[in-house]
Amino acid sequence: MMNRHTLDEHKLNIHAVNTKASVYTLGNGYLGIRGTYEEEYVAQTRGLYVAGVYNKAHKEDPSDLVNIPDVIGMSIQLNDQFFSMMNGEVNEYSRSLNFTTGELSRCVIWTCPQGKRYQLRFQRFVSKASLHTIGAKLSIVSIDQDSHLKLVTGIDAQQTNFGRQHLREESVRVFDEQYIQGIYRTTQTDIGITISSSLTISHESNVSFHSKNRQLMYHADVLLPKGQEVVIEKITTVHTTMDQQGAASEHCLSYLHTQSKQGYRALYEETSEQWQQFWHKQRIHLESTNPFDQTAIQFAQYHMEIMTPKHDHRFSLGAKGLTGEGYKGHVFWDTEIFLLPAHLYTQPYIAKQLLQYRYLHLSQAMEKAQQNGYKGALFPWESALSGEEETPEYAAINIRTGTRQKVASALAEHHIVADIAFAVVQYYEATYDDAFMRKEGIALLRETAKFWMSRAIWRHNRLEILDVIGPDEYTEHIDNNAFTNYMAHYNVEQAIKYLEKYENSDESFAKSAAHFLEHLYLPTPNKEHIIPQDDTFLAKREIDLSKYKKSQGSQAILLDYSRAEVNEMQILKQADVVMLLYLFPKLFPREVIERNLYYYEQHTIHDSSLSKAIHSIVAARCDETAAAYQFFQEACLIDLGDNPHSSDEGIHAASLGAIWLAVVFGFANIAIHEEYISLEPKIPQQWKKLMFELTIHGTAIQFQFEEKYCQLTKMDGPDIEVMWQEKRYTLQEQLTFSWE
Ligand code: BGC
Repeated sequence: MMNRHTLDEHKLNIHAVNTKASVYTLGNGYLGIRGTYEEEYVAQTRGLYVAGVYNKAHKEDPSDLVNIPDVIGMSIQLNDQFFSMMNGEVNEYSRSLNFTTGELSRCVIWTCPQGKRYQLRFQRFVSKASLHTIGAKLSIVSIDQDSHLKLVTGIDAQQTNFGRQHLREESVRVFDEQYIQGIYRTTQTDIGITISSSLTISHESNVSFHSKNRQLMYHADVLLPKGQEVVIEKITTVHTTMDQQGAASEHCLSYLHTQSKQGYRALYEETSEQWQQFWHKQRIHLESTNPFDQTAIQFAQYHMEIMTPKHDHRFSLGAKGLTGEGYKGHVFWDTEIFLLPAHLYTQPYIAKQLLQYRYLHLSQAMEKAQQNGYKGALFPWESALSGEEETPEYAAINIRTGTRQKVASALAEHHIVADIAFAVVQYYEATYDDAFMRKEGIALLRETAKFWMSRAIWRHNRLEILDVIGPDEYTEHIDNNAFTNYMAHYNVEQAIKYLEKYENSDESFAKSAAHFLEHLYLPTPNKEHIIPQDDTFLAKREIDLSKYKKSQGSQAILLDYSRAEVNEMQILKQADVVMLLYLFPKLFPREVIERNLYYYEQHTIHDSSLSKAIHSIVAARCDETAAAYQFFQEACLIDLGDNPHSSDEGIHAASLGAIWLAVVFGFANIAIHEEYISLEPKIPQQWKKLMFELTIHGTAIQFQFEEKYCQLTKMDGPDIEVMWQEKRYTLQEQLTFSWE
């Protein structure tokens, strides 16, 4: 029977070493450590990342989320045989990530090439109680004979970001013949990083220290008496000069003293307690005939929690969280549209912080707008620490022609501006946070609205938005992308609404806004009820996409066609019009939604992980529950499926966020309005019970769905209005609605 609160693996698959390392990442929003094995494997990419620690290896490069020195690696020699699951024989193997406690463990029974057996148990956690602390433990039993263990571990600064070195080594030291400490500095952003470790061994051992070639290492020689368990604990702390307390050597050392004095078990219990508190409030409980659903939802919730830098609004969420170097750790629209809602309705202060990150960089966005000849704020398509545009100028090189294709997103994927504004309104509507709206909210809405007003041009007797990329990145440089135009309209409409509410609107702004709202072209459904994705999309050539749909996620189409050719065909990488239908469920009549969902899905190869779960939501709302469930499952498999390389460079953060969205806004089909909430559940037949808690307008509500009824229980806060089948009810204590 599958344990739904753990992610288990019972078979070694060395080909999937990097995807699994991403999936098994541990973290706490301050730092993330890839779930790599302790021992070395050629293909394995280690990774330790601290939120906000970015650097440019060369000044013309985009910033990388820096891969800081590794502390997980261990070289283990047992009677002179290097422990490796590629040598000798692996008699037993299991690995488990316990979502409830935040611990990753691995048990191996290994027969070395000389035929002797050893039992090794590795355990690891990243503390949720003390953000700087990492605990690791190795327990070894020599099964057949007395043996001799040689262990080398420490702080390894040979790590790079795929060959790009970002750190200068400033100092390496050993203190009290027990602690080691390495201090490093990023070459361009000048961030200091202090890593300190301690090692304790349960049995008598001989320990020496070595420092060479950017490695500061313990070398321990230990006797392993037959049948006796020898335990090695390594406690590490990581600090940076961006921390409030700084990263001075002494401070970090004394922090390490207090942490390591407690030992692995006590530190682990502290962190496990924190995780349990988290799950107590946050867990989406699901009883499904397919237990994988529950594991996948918890996996999504777990990763959203460990990627989120709750401690500091200067940082946001990378497209791969803190699990790998994909997209260089950059922040996209993924944050506001895909990830923010899960926080907003459970821990609203986090949503606020994510918006504060954008506010903090409003001046850079205004500068970008100005440099491009626009007004207001043009937020970067990709951003990192400085808030400047970080999108790489060129995509991968074509090694046959030696040419590189320019990445157009920084120049044209402007919908991110409205996506941020959308999230500001969503935040306010869910929290009524006046203080935020008065300051950050209004400024963001006004400057984003100004951008759109300057971005649109007068053509064909109306305002049009030309030369953009919509969410579907396989269609570039198009005019009047429906998603972009509707979002821009909403952005300006909401800006004027809130500027008036807070008496902040000036006459000229109000006039321009009214003009914009009246004249902006909003594409409407054609006579077949299809909303044109842009001015030319529906006239483009169609090809049979079945082959590419089968290999979705792999961008296989680009092996057969150039990007320019793809641009001239009706091929979508990801939801675009469907994205619009998701965000604005009442914008079009049901029939139009159904037709567009069907039409555009036929033309979508889902090469972006942002696609499937959004299709699931729109399908669920159209009562296509079976199809919705199928999309949902496929979304869950993006990180957890069989493809050994799907997540090599990190998990798909937005897709995980969208799994949450699919549960709450798709299957539970809850909608949050300014004064009330409504719901119209579309629970798949596989789900026997679904339960979760959301906080809306300051009221904590527990939602419970069973086969034929749902129950809303007020857990805390003021009464709230609920719309059910066109009728309003007041939730004072509990409401039960049933259906046939
Ligand atoms: C998608 C974008 C997304 C980015 C980061 C791209 O492949 O097309 O929509 O923002 O990945 O996840």
